[in-house]
Amino acid sequence: MVHQNMFNLKRLTFFRRLLLKERVGALIICWVVGGLLASCSSPQYPYKIYALTGETMGTTYHIKIVLPTDKNLPENIGNEVHSCLEKIDSLMSTYQEDSELMQFNRHKEGTPFPVSEETKKVFEIAMKVAEETDGAFDITVYPLVELWGFGKREVSAPPSEDVIKQVLANVGYKKLKILPEGLKKEDTEMQCDLSAVAKGYAVDKVCELLDLKGMGSYMVEVGGEVKVKGEKLPGQPWIVGIEYPEPMSRKVFKRVQLKDYAMATSGNYRNYFIWNGKRYSHEIDPITGYPVPHTLASVSVVHRSCAFADAYATAFMVMGLEKAYKFAEEHNIPAFFIYPENGVTFSYKETSSWKNYRL
Ligand code: FAD
Repeated sequence: MVHQNMFNLKRLTFFRRLLLKERVGALIICWVVGGLLASCSSPQYPYKIYALTGETMGTTYHIKIVLPTDKNLPENIGNEVHSCLEKIDSLMSTYQEDSELMQFNRHKEGTPFPVSEETKKVFEIAMKVAEETDGAFDITVYPLVELWGFGKREVSAPPSEDVIKQVLANVGYKKLKILPEGLKKEDTEMQCDLSAVAKGYAVDKVCELLDLKGMGSYMVEVGGEVKVKGEKLPGQPWIVGIEYPEPMSRKVFKRVQLKDYAMATSGNYRNYFIWNGKRYSHEIDPITGYPVPHTLASVSVVHRSCAFADAYATAFMVMGLEKAYKFAEEHNIPAFFIYPENGVTFSYKETSSWKNYRL
């Protein structure tokens, strides 16, 4: 089995666990590269741009904060941002056996499992998108994600139809109830994966923290999901790039301008494997139990909430171009779809509300 550019699964696992994953997502245009904290100011403008960078959730984060030159960054902000992200990681990771989520996944008593406010909020968002998309988005896919080798587990071949059927029997968002006392499994074998929504939520939480600190202009990006506040500089919007949907490319496919909005992207061009000439993507159809078969390369979604943008982007990848486009138009969700044309180039389709963000 060949996973993307890796020649065997052992090497893939090494790559995914020890190196930071290159995520599908936004490219930060004109990024100020720095260490943990860097700043720069231009003689043209009385502003300084600070950059905070670091690692979390198996990926990286980049934050830019703009301040007038006579103002300093709040003390300790770098540590507070990092702690905020690490808290979400420790609550919602499927890569940490002692995370709150993994404890819930092991809970088989049939009683409600009490969880933190943060985890509950992410479950609520996930359930809302699951209901709206008729289960295209479904966090109970976790056992399928592991079965297909897109989580921690190593696999040497695609699973058999029988095993998929067996695992599929415990999948379905309707088996999950959110009660005041906690999360309740209707099927005690059910297990959840918040990978398609928690990074977006993490972006929202860092933004909340920066708001509390009185920051009026910033860009927050975690693993390709991004949210901005205000303008970068007076009269200059924040600009982010949607990347070209090729594994090794860091080229910009389209640029987008954002103000007080988030953008999340899901794609099948970086996390996939090829078996017997067939390509298998990490976006799993919760109805069939198989990776989605269509060729949609990536979907970007703009929303006020990065968690919702993140979840819709994955849902749209699962739904495929036609269904997702119709859904996004009906729900007035700005969405941008990239798909291959003639096996040589890529084409795109955007919903009517996308024009507000187009450059
Ligand atoms: P997205 O499109 O945003 O999400 C795709 C992922 O969602 C799939 O990989 C699958 O997990 C899940 N999914 C698939 N189908 C569906 C569906 N129909 N409905 C809902 N979900 C679906 N990775 C590491 O290698 N090491 C780590 O230590 C690590 N820690 C993490 C901690 C946290 C809290 C989170 C949220 C993720 C972590 N990751 C880690 C995972 C890594 O960052 C994920 O690959 C990432 O979250 C998926 O994001 P994406 O942008 O690649 O794809």
